[in-house]
Amino acid sequence: MKNKSIWINKDDNDIEDSLEENIECDILIVGGGIAGLSTAYYLKDSNKKVVLIDKDRIGYGATSKNTGKLDYMQGLIYHKIEKNYNKEIAKIYLESQKEAINEVVNIIKKNKINCHLEKVNSYVFSGNINDEKDFNKEIEFYKDNNIDYKIESSLPISYPSSIVLSTNNNYVFNPYEYMMGLKGIIKDKIKIYENTKCTSIDKKDDYYKCLIEDKYEIKAKYVVCATHYPIFIVPFLIPFKTEVQNFYIGAFQVNDTKNISILSYNKPIISMRYYDKYFLYGRRSHSSSTDLDIRKDLDCIKIEVKKYWNKDIEYFYHTNDIMTYDNLPFIGEISPNLYIATGFNKWGNTNGTISGRVIRDLINKKDNKYIQLFNPKRGISLDKIKNIPLYNIKVSTRYILNKINPHMNYYDKNVKIKFINGKRCGIYTDDDGKEHIVSNICPHMKCNLIFNYVDKTWDCPCHGSRFTVDGDIIEGPSVYSIKIKEE
Ligand SMILES: Cc1cc2nc3c(=O)[nH]c(=O)nc-3n(C[C@H](O)[C@H](O)[C@H](O)COP(=O)(O)OP(=O)(O)OC[C@H]3O[C@@H](n4cnc5c(N)ncnc54)[C@H](O)[C@@H]3O)c2cc1C
Repeated sequence: MKNKSIWINKDDNDIEDSLEENIECDILIVGGGIAGLSTAYYLKDSNKKVVLIDKDRIGYGATSKNTGKLDYMQGLIYHKIEKNYNKEIAKIYLESQKEAINEVVNIIKKNKINCHLEKVNSYVFSGNINDEKDFNKEIEFYKDNNIDYKIESSLPISYPSSIVLSTNNNYVFNPYEYMMGLKGIIKDKIKIYENTKCTSIDKKDDYYKCLIEDKYEIKAKYVVCATHYPIFIVPFLIPFKTEVQNFYIGAFQVNDTKNISILSYNKPIISMRYYDKYFLYGRRSHSSSTDLDIRKDLDCIKIEVKKYWNKDIEYFYHTNDIMTYDNLPFIGEISPNLYIATGFNKWGNTNGTISGRVIRDLINKKDNKYIQLFNPKRGISLDKIKNIPLYNIKVSTRYILNKINPHMNYYDKNVKIKFINGKRCGIYTDDDGKEHIVSNICPHMKCNLIFNYVDKTWDCPCHGSRFTVDGDIIEGPSVYSIKIKEE
């Protein structure tokens, strides 16, 4: 089994420089995932000097590990937004998702990006007949908004379901190939630096000072933080307003293919699609603070794929996404000239794309009908913030439990937590008997890290940072490693 994403089938050999001097620019985009690249795409023709940096290679973040759906049928989301706000807001969200899909399709066609784009019918199903009420509310919304839908008698694959709803004009693609296409389009006009990690973004008089590995400095008038999870806590206090959710994908070879995209409404969430000669089976969204042993998720996927397709999985990969309390992303200005694009609620291919248009218009002081909708500082009323205490209870419970029980019940003997010189360390002993010792404390908000046996990494159950067994950062929000410093 390959423990990696199915999308990155060949490496991009075109490695960009890493920053090795102090520079100045008008607009700095931090993060080269779908949100950062889309923002760069829409700003490439402005008369401003734009720089894009990524701590890693471009396109290796969460986007390269998603399911590659470009779908406006996002579960039964519209009746939920209607409940949180009203019909009009739900309608504008639908328009934003359709606009994003059209944009991506047009960019692909205009620039001839080879990224396995296919038009698909989308299906949302439930195995629980009690969900019928929610399906009916969603259908009401579809009727009001002239969405062409069908109530189906079953799914187009052999998989159990009680209620099935379908829409058309959705798409699937290979998100990594799409990002490499965007990179190719922008790189003549925008300077890209890879392996260039931003460690802080500080407001000075009329500019931002962004430190790179605490060595170099980028001075920029505008900064777009498109790092998936914003790397700073203040301003905006994102850790207290969002939840990080994990989701797992297994892929296996099949003999047929269909232009379909399937998502379950009832839990565990199941997300399915075909890609080339493969079938992707995504399973179970849950808070990163609960159910810590990823081996169980891998086993469930293996068992279910065997049961329904009689196959073994060839790829297994996972990532997380940031969930907001009201199903709408956070895209916009949070401090003068500082922008975020995050909280995509597992729909980053569309919301990352629309981020680029919204942020371009905010910087250029132009109107955009989605500015208010996605405004990160939108007013929140008591009934809408009920998820916030739940998010915080889950994270703080995990924070406390991990402090109390350092050894974690599921650890095998090759993983130990030990106090060395008064510091809590994590020790992983590899197959050759070599010990890898790192700090067990996440530099982001001091949560204790847990060991991920599938990837052999140390993962933060609070906000999703991940580290290698030797302490290097794989994913933020942490910007610092967990290597033990020589004293
Ligand atoms: C399993 C799963 C399946 C999903 N499937 C879908 C789907 O089918 N369709 C869909 O629309 N959405 C899907 N999503 C959601 C989607 O993947 C995300 O919302 C989206 O990828 C986020 O894009 P991004 O650009 O914000 O983040 P990323 O793609 O993670 O990009 C952020 C970039 O910032 C860089 N970075 C981070 N920190 C720094 C730093 N300090 N300095 C410099 N660079 C930095 C990273 O290296 C990375 O390249 C899925 C989510 C999950 C969990």
